[in-house]
Amino acid sequence: MNILILGGGGREHALAWAIKQNPKCDRLIVAPGNAGIAQIAECADLDILDGSAVVAFCEANSVDFVVVGPEAPLAAGVADATRAAGLLTFGPSQAAARLEASKGFTKEVCDACGAPTAGYARFTEAEGARAHVRATGAPIVIKADGLAAGKGVVVAMTEAEALAAIDDMFGGSFGAAGAEVVIEEFMTGEEASFFVLTDGRTVLPIGTAQDHKRAFDGDEGPNTGGMGAYSPAPVLTTAVQRQALDEIVKPTIAEMGRRGAPYSGVLYAGLMIEEGRARLVEYNVRFGDPECQVLMLRLGAQALDLLLACAEGRLDQVQVNWAEDHALTVVMAAKGYPGSYRKGTEIRGLEALPETSRQVVFHAGTAAEEGRILATGGRVLAATARGATLAEAQAAAYAMVDAIDWPEGFCRRDIGWRAL
Ligand code: ATP
Repeated sequence: MNILILGGGGREHALAWAIKQNPKCDRLIVAPGNAGIAQIAECADLDILDGSAVVAFCEANSVDFVVVGPEAPLAAGVADATRAAGLLTFGPSQAAARLEASKGFTKEVCDACGAPTAGYARFTEAEGARAHVRATGAPIVIKADGLAAGKGVVVAMTEAEALAAIDDMFGGSFGAAGAEVVIEEFMTGEEASFFVLTDGRTVLPIGTAQDHKRAFDGDEGPNTGGMGAYSPAPVLTTAVQRQALDEIVKPTIAEMGRRGAPYSGVLYAGLMIEEGRARLVEYNVRFGDPECQVLMLRLGAQALDLLLACAEGRLDQVQVNWAEDHALTVVMAAKGYPGSYRKGTEIRGLEALPETSRQVVFHAGTAAEEGRILATGGRVLAATARGATLAEAQAAAYAMVDAIDWPEGFCRRDIGWRAL
């Protein structure tokens, strides 16, 4: 079959890498893709936020299956457009994608289905929000309701910080995303990510992971899109996974069905675990980046069968063939990221690294120019490896990092520390 993946980051390289290995995949196209993806698939120039453009492209290229990587096209209704055109699609509808696109909506769903999560209040004007903070005190969490690329959340340790965040959000720093603000109780515990596929009826867990949001070692420095991840996450024991499924994930999916917005696709639950119980921090309606890299390395070619079963509504007929091992990914970013950084610097040494079922360097912000690989984004590479133990996976991932010659890049040296 002919498959189109929308997106061009490390997540989409990992999806392409896994899908490409499955014999069901004849032609693989990724839009827009990147230099790493171009080595295994065709890259296409396409406005992935424009549903009619995506449909027209699929018709012109006889695409049989569309896999949507990032949240923006989902929130823009691209999966609705492709489904309406009769195209088999992996990814939730615009109505279901509100689980990520509106934090207030997610809270409302949690209330309706009794899913444990932080206490909260919603505000559409600053005065009420300020009064709430003064009455509650810090620490407290201030969130812009809409999509803000991971930057719309302030975990305020003081009241002054919380008040400043409120002024910032209502002052327009996040545009429409900040027109509503959700203020949450500060939760303590250990965070982990839980991934399930669902067709709206069956819920199939496909792995757990932990990421590293801060830019520097020891969880110091500014928040980023994610500097590394590993799978599985030891804190998500079988018992905690069962509780999260029974109390959070399954009730949410049932509630979405009741609301006439049945959920189909991957649901990524960000959980806070304390004393053996999980509470919901947030939902994402797509794979995490870089969590997808470790999940795909462990799932391999079966990923396509799972995504297809999900899109076709027959998840009850498949099961995951679990690899009893560990995977770890180290993100290499341009120096300066998540602030300003140089673009166009050359990365050397990639061609000497063997790509196997046990280790791959996934590309994010890269471009090829006259045979050279150039860094074009903030997060640029994800050196990803598997091992019988997490320590083994970590050593293999850092061995790849050390073989890459890119003086303008940096990475954390402690990915996996929490589990090791
Ligand atoms: P991202 O897209 O980066 O995952 P986001 O903008 O969707 O983030 P959240 O995941 O809701 O926002 O919050 C970002 C981070 O803030 C969480 O990973 C968590 O560390 C922290 N956080 C969010 N809500 C709470 C809370 N109620 N208590 C404590 N920490 C929280």
